[in-house]
Amino acid sequence: MIEVTLLGTGSPIPDPRRAGPSTLVRAGGQTFLVDCGRGVLQRAAAVGVSANNLTALLLTHLHSDHITDLGDVLITRWVGNFAPDLTPLPIIGPPGTAEVVENTLKALQFDIGYRIAHHADLTTPPPVEVEEVTEGVVWGRDGVRILVAPTDHRPVAPTIGFRVEHNGASVVLAGDTVPCPTLDELAAGAGALVHTVIRKDLIDPMPMQRIRDICDYHSSVQQAAETATRAGVGILILTHYVPALVPGQEEDWRALAATAFDRQIELGDDLHRVEVHPGVCVKPAG
Ligand SMILES: [Zn+2]
Ligand SMILES: [Zn+2]
Repeated sequence: MIEVTLLGTGSPIPDPRRAGPSTLVRAGGQTFLVDCGRGVLQRAAAVGVSANNLTALLLTHLHSDHITDLGDVLITRWVGNFAPDLTPLPIIGPPGTAEVVENTLKALQFDIGYRIAHHADLTTPPPVEVEEVTEGVVWGRDGVRILVAPTDHRPVAPTIGFRVEHNGASVVLAGDTVPCPTLDELAAGAGALVHTVIRKDLIDPMPMQRIRDICDYHSSVQQAAETATRAGVGILILTHYVPALVPGQEEDWRALAATAFDRQIELGDDLHRVEVHPGVCVKPAG
């Protein structure tokens, strides 16, 4: 079984009810944090997960809303670890990730210096191990395999999606993307597809061009549902709601997805949890 928890279902627009984009994936005793938006560690704490419990951090792309709390994850993991040797945190992301991590640590160099000076048992900066990838198998440890494929969020490029597999169960995390063949292929036959979505019907009429621009490079609810149908996934999990999903409107969003996907649809508030079991996938037709 793979357990998916939507830690943050928000977007770049601050919302009192929703943390920024991040999803927790737990499989085979391993805990993966996918993106690290605003407030991620507070939400993770609500399900008993601390920065120290993370097996690896996976980044779909380097848009600010998906990496807002990267510094918090790195520093909190470092200062909150009391074992003698802290292993480096594996961080897997698209090209550019190493520079972002390096610059984040640079921005925090005063803090890191203060803590090393103050605590005798902190002698080195937060250890990280960054791997930049665009495709292929990127993880294989104790029965958990992770694959990566390119997505299409241009002009943000490169961007990637992840497929986590464990004991016959599989979950694909699309990140921000328009429909594309590489995502279809990555998601083919998966137990669940976690997809970020926007409501084009609500965004298109807005007067600000800068807001309307976001329709260019995201999938609408219907497009995410069409991707799920083409790929033959078992469960479609919607997140990163733009505009924010207003309480009471869940069924409107679900109904839009249901126009293009006739299996299980999951959406909701932060901390919504979905269990993905082996065998819920439906093999795609073609
Ligand atoms: Zn983005
Ligand atoms: Zn985003």
